[in-house]
Amino acid sequence: MRKVCLITGASAGIGAATARLAAERGYDLALNYRSDRESAERVAAACRELGASVVLCPGDVANPEDIAAIYRQVDKSFGRLDALVNNAGIVDQAARVTEMNHDRLRRMFDVNVIGAILVAKEAVLRMQAQGTGGAIVNLSSVAARLGSANQYVDYAASKAAIDTFTKGLAEEVAADNIRVTALRPGLIETDIHAKGGQPDRAQRLSGSVPMQRTGSPEEVARGVLFLLSEDASYVTGTTLDVTGGR
Ligand code: NAD
Repeated sequence: MRKVCLITGASAGIGAATARLAAERGYDLALNYRSDRESAERVAAACRELGASVVLCPGDVANPEDIAAIYRQVDKSFGRLDALVNNAGIVDQAARVTEMNHDRLRRMFDVNVIGAILVAKEAVLRMQAQGTGGAIVNLSSVAARLGSANQYVDYAASKAAIDTFTKGLAEEVAADNIRVTALRPGLIETDIHAKGGQPDRAQRLSGSVPMQRTGSPEEVARGVLFLLSEDASYVTGTTLDVTGGR
């Protein structure tokens, strides 16, 4: 039987690369996107060509009603869930803490932390009801370790929260054979840097990476698929760095 995987923020970047690799590895897919339907359709078409059944699940993970709608779609289409990739995430413009206002901080934590926790909660409820175990991978960031002073302290703090949440949830559900891990990408070539107002950020900082280059979304996707797979059957509560040594 094919396993079913929900990926949030799957219309671009790491989420899209993870969807394609998961399709290749035999998963059926529920692909969440926030607003970019056209890109999501393209990702879905590529996954279907690789043999996956795919359903698109629009919704903003910061909105609890949208999360309920995403899971209604998963339940209706597949009636089960084996894997979750909690990938949707945002950065904002580089700024010092003294320049950050309540709205910015609220949105950052609503999407990156509260959204991720509520999406994971719904996955756990389904995996526990099925009694078949499961795997959850949360996208963290190397920023959780670095702090990102003068840039994205809010983003870094949101990802540190994800690391801690990963550890705690992993312990809560380990006896149900649900594994929960996090993956910290380093400097990966996606549009997230442009959305944060610095389109050249990954290239500009690539000299600070021990491997002297940026990473690709596909390299991160391979880490995610390892954590989801049976190869990681005794790995839980841990965080994998995919950072070229950074
Ligand atoms: P990206 O901007 O290319 O893709 C992020 C995806 O999440 C987009 O499809 C976007 O529409 C979606 N999204 C954002 N907010 C959403 C919301 N509220 N609801 C639903 N979907 C939403 O970014 P990416 O680089 O592919 O990032 C993927 C994950 O990896 C994020 O969690 C990010 O923080 C993390 N990450 C990326 C890097 C990097 O260098 N690219 C480094 C460390 C961590």
